[in-house]
Amino acid sequence: MSSHPRPALAVIGGSGFYDFFDNDATDVEIDTPYGTPSAPIAIGEVEGRAVAFLPRHGKRHQYAPHTLPYLANMWALRSLGVRRVLAPCAVGSLRADWGPGTVGVPAQLVDRTSGRMQTYFGGGGVHVSFADPYCDELRTAAIESAIPELPLKVGGTMVVVQGPRFSTRAESRWFAEQGWDLVNMTGHPEAVLARELELCYAAVALVTDLDAGLEEGDGVHAVDVFAEFERNLGPFKELIRRAIAAVPGEDTCDRCRVHAGVSLPFELP
Ligand SMILES: [Zn+2]
Repeated sequence: MSSHPRPALAVIGGSGFYDFFDNDATDVEIDTPYGTPSAPIAIGEVEGRAVAFLPRHGKRHQYAPHTLPYLANMWALRSLGVRRVLAPCAVGSLRADWGPGTVGVPAQLVDRTSGRMQTYFGGGGVHVSFADPYCDELRTAAIESAIPELPLKVGGTMVVVQGPRFSTRAESRWFAEQGWDLVNMTGHPEAVLARELELCYAAVALVTDLDAGLEEGDGVHAVDVFAEFERNLGPFKELIRRAIAAVPGEDTCDRCRVHAGVSLPFELP
């Protein structure tokens, strides 16, 4: 069995994050009661800290947002000793003043997915508090790590849609009319599963495009989204690296440890 440091912090990110580590990472294969995660989990060092990295969509980008093994991913991280998860993601913008290259650190999410398994609880009267879905300590670390190339917007709401299709213009306009700011396909159930496992979790969202209701052309296309993501990936990775360094070393966050004193219907890994 390979030896690796025990990571307290994890990053779940897109495929561009492979060359993220300061040293050679170790790939750890993990099986969970919920199946295997999207990929082996890479453990390496960033800014002197042991960090776990999981490519959300798999190493070959083989998992679409609606087929991702969300339960296995979060369980696997927790079982490695992870207690905090930074979740960079690509998003569409629902506001003209948050253009491509903007980084959002949302405060709220709205779940518009359907049919996704979104809980580890199989029964019993367990209702997890989710009023504030993101960890303030992690959000603060990301906000303090802003870099000049990418304007950073604090707060707002990310609506998570089922995908894999993009929104219609009518849906997009309706989302914007609700006062929502960003649209994404993977932020739920990732956030709530993190909460159930008492993991600190924060989304850090890179805007790749204006959503269909705002843009003037012929709609959102995947090729443009990936090209825009690629263009801003270097500075975005730098922001995430800085955020890792800015996360408090001590495990001080009580707010995300929701189950203290509550008996869970399962053992936390
Ligand atoms: Zn927290």
